Amino acid sequence: MIETLEEIGGRPLAPGQGFAFRCGPDLACFGSCCADKRLPLWPYDLLRLRRALARPSQDILAELVELETDPRSGWPALRLRLNADGRCPFSGPGGGCQVYAHRPLCCRIYPLARAVAPAIGGGQPRQVFIVQDAPACLGLGQPRALDQGQWLADQGMGPYLAANNRLLGLLMHPRRPARLALTPAQTHAYLAALYNLDVFRQQVRDPAFAKRAGLEKARVKKALRADESLLELGQDWLSQVLFG
Ligand code: SF4
Ligand code: SF4
Repeated sequence: MIETLEEIGGRPLAPGQGFAFRCGPDLACFGSCCADKRLPLWPYDLLRLRRALARPSQDILAELVELETDPRSGWPALRLRLNADGRCPFSGPGGGCQVYAHRPLCCRIYPLARAVAPAIGGGQPRQVFIVQDAPACLGLGQPRALDQGQWLADQGMGPYLAANNRLLGLLMHPRRPARLALTPAQTHAYLAALYNLDVFRQQVRDPAFAKRAGLEKARVKKALRADESLLELGQDWLSQVLFG
């Protein structure tokens, strides 16, 4: 789920190093990359897709998401369920993306990928951006020089990276075992707090839950007002439930 440099095929970029890429409907490969792919979904991806689709989180999870377990870490890992023909359910007839403004991180960051390691002694995680190996992607052969930081900004990566950096605090918690073996109840709590925000909101609204979890009234109020705050609260609650 958290990928290391060795696990992502591609060419690592030095900080600030540029790369060449252009994507557009004039390329013969347009839309071909939205099929037959493993499309991981992070909690913030689900939050944004829910916003795009204006549907309850439990419906999206039931219809559009598949649950796996990361074989290395033991954490639950969610991915987008592809159509029977292998295409992404959001792929439009002309090859465009129907949720473009809210597309998941894995699509947004392409042709780059990010390998991360937790920060030593606090602060920001260490990260390396990689130009992915994708021989079928004609965009990688286009003579259009891009600045790494500008590309990430143009793709709206800021809130996605910030949310995932915060999530690292849970996924790489210092008290987690080498490989987790979550009980069904713990997996349910993971999915509720990080992905099923409509259900988790009802839970947080219950004064008995807030009391048991030791949540301050002001924090509950803030979480009930904004999905982003609710997700942060969910992550902190889960950290407490799983690791004390
Ligand atoms: S394969 Fe590459 S260039 Fe072609 S549509 Fe996908 S991202 Fe764009
Ligand atoms: S979410 Fe959009 S960009 Fe990503 S695979 Fe689906 S259609 Fe393509």
